[in-house]
Amino acid sequence: MIERHEHWSDGWYRPARQWHSPHFCARADDEIISLVVIHNISLPPFEYGTEAVKALFTQQIEPDEPDVFMRSIRHLKVSSHFLIERDGRLTQFVSCNDAAYQAGVSCFGGRAGCNAFSIGIELEGCDFEPFTALQYQQLIGLLHQIADVYPIEAITGHQHIAAGRKSDPGHFFEWAQLQQAGLPVVTQYQYA
Ligand SMILES: [Zn+2]
Repeated sequence: MIERHEHWSDGWYRPARQWHSPHFCARADDEIISLVVIHNISLPPFEYGTEAVKALFTQQIEPDEPDVFMRSIRHLKVSSHFLIERDGRLTQFVSCNDAAYQAGVSCFGGRAGCNAFSIGIELEGCDFEPFTALQYQQLIGLLHQIADVYPIEAITGHQHIAAGRKSDPGHFFEWAQLQQAGLPVVTQYQYA
């Protein structure tokens, strides 16, 4: 894997806090990491500032968790490489050199199974309200850092690679901010 930047170590971005997730697999040795997938998430749904997303990704939701919804998802094996909370805080769960379980059934550019060749970034949020300026600031900085060390050809939304199944990051996500920052945004829907 490509590794030539002072801010990176074995696929870990040094400025991010680390919460290691067990929900990943190795990428193929010759895999080219060419895609970034943007998501939104909040847990419990529509609640911000909890540690619940981190708990889910790191398999730390307790069996006696009082919230029924949280208890119902505690066995899901999902993760993402990064999470950016409402205040801009950045956390990394999986090395970018490995495949995080973030995209699920998906297709980009005629190729199915986007986890194999993509990096996933979750924004704390939902489909029904804007993201924060601090999140865009952190996201754009992170995308430039990723593009510095991986040959990223496109940045897209979960909704664009899993149409009909996923709707994130949603209508409120401002792709124009990424385009204005010179990033390669692709928001056409992708079909198998
Ligand atoms: Zn998603």
